[in-house]
Amino acid sequence: MTRARHFALRSLAGLLLAGCKLGAPDGVALVGATLIDGTGGPPLADAAVVVRRGKVESVGPRASFELPRSTRQVDVTGRWIIPGLIDAHVHLTQAAGWAPARYLAWGVTTVRDMHGPLNSVISIRRRSNTGTVGFPRLYAAGAMIDGLPTTYSEAIGVNSENDARKAVDRLVSAGVDFIKIYTHVDPPLLRAILDEAHTFNVAVAAHLGMTDAMTAARSGITSIEHMTGIPEAVSRERSSLLASHYRGFFPGWTSFERSWAGLDSAALSQLAGRLVQERVTLVPTLILHETLSRLDDPAMLRDPALADVPEAARQEWDVPGMITRAGWNQTDFAAFQRSRPTQNFFVRAFATAGGRIVTGTDSPNQLLVPGYSEHRELELLVAAGISPREALRAATRNAAVLLGADSLGLLAPGKVADLLVLSKDPLVDIRNTRAIEAVMSRGYLLDTDSIRATW
Ligand SMILES: [Zn+2]
Repeated sequence: MTRARHFALRSLAGLLLAGCKLGAPDGVALVGATLIDGTGGPPLADAAVVVRRGKVESVGPRASFELPRSTRQVDVTGRWIIPGLIDAHVHLTQAAGWAPARYLAWGVTTVRDMHGPLNSVISIRRRSNTGTVGFPRLYAAGAMIDGLPTTYSEAIGVNSENDARKAVDRLVSAGVDFIKIYTHVDPPLLRAILDEAHTFNVAVAAHLGMTDAMTAARSGITSIEHMTGIPEAVSRERSSLLASHYRGFFPGWTSFERSWAGLDSAALSQLAGRLVQERVTLVPTLILHETLSRLDDPAMLRDPALADVPEAARQEWDVPGMITRAGWNQTDFAAFQRSRPTQNFFVRAFATAGGRIVTGTDSPNQLLVPGYSEHRELELLVAAGISPREALRAATRNAAVLLGADSLGLLAPGKVADLLVLSKDPLVDIRNTRAIEAVMSRGYLLDTDSIRATW
């Protein structure tokens, strides 16, 4: 970065921050940027965005804009404004001490937490959502529901339809935002979970194993995580794939991940269309597939972005230990890499059929840096053939729809003022979402330099 550039960046952040020192972030008009509002529609050049009391008050072209009373105008000419990003598949509660600041500094203002010990998830969520600056807004599943034996000790294990219903009741009364089910949930358990969840109007996210994607979709799941259950729905080796999930998490994941390369593209396209008809949302987490396929690549461990992760957390990842536990070797990694183009094909087919795709990362699991991984996911979606505009929608409005949060993921009057100011055009190159000049969360401008200084 040149000195001049650095100065411009500091001065914008300084200008914006100066108006926020009074506490309540009242009355800021960001004028002159190109607005990408999250709908996937065309951008609005030379826009004016007025923020007051944590909300977007108005949005429109600068030409017809009049500075409202007691509003400070900040010139953001030559920049781009996008909604705050949403990472819809995280495990933040595993790393609640250090991960939240990373998400925010990278412009991820909302996350969807997929699993953790129920009581601690609920208390972390309460803390994060009572307006605490320094925490992304958190939507949480609490503890996931799994069949027996459960893969994770904090999961709620169920072995009968009655148990499955009780598990849903327990989670709903604890106040979770949605239900997450895991690999050992078979079709009868899943149907009981869904029936119970639907009486409470609660969404069900699925990391599938012993149930294929089509069966799960017909039963009424809301989202498919990691594209699980898709090979199981179309593969000629369907029964051996489903059986591998009975043998344990890693045998199941390994067979699933290896199987993509051999799948029939016509069958995949047809499945994509049927899942779209069933209104299932896809959270592909391409960054997870990409990372696991290169886990033995030393270049992965040298990625400069890993500097964002505290040393203790990096040691806890224990990548070599994970490879040993999984029993993966070079043949597996090569097979995982061969699966990537077919996974990309499926994402494209799903998008072409009109399906809702949402960004998720599985961070901060092994090598998945909180916040930064969201930008990598956007890049991988575009590499898979999704347009930058659609990729941005996956990270904003589509994700908000999945969360059932109408006030998020869109920059329009009345919506929450979560936004990023970028110095480069993300529609020209999606990697420009990383050129973050300012992050606004709930109307507060965050001093990302100060946040980073505390790492
Ligand atoms: Zn996960």
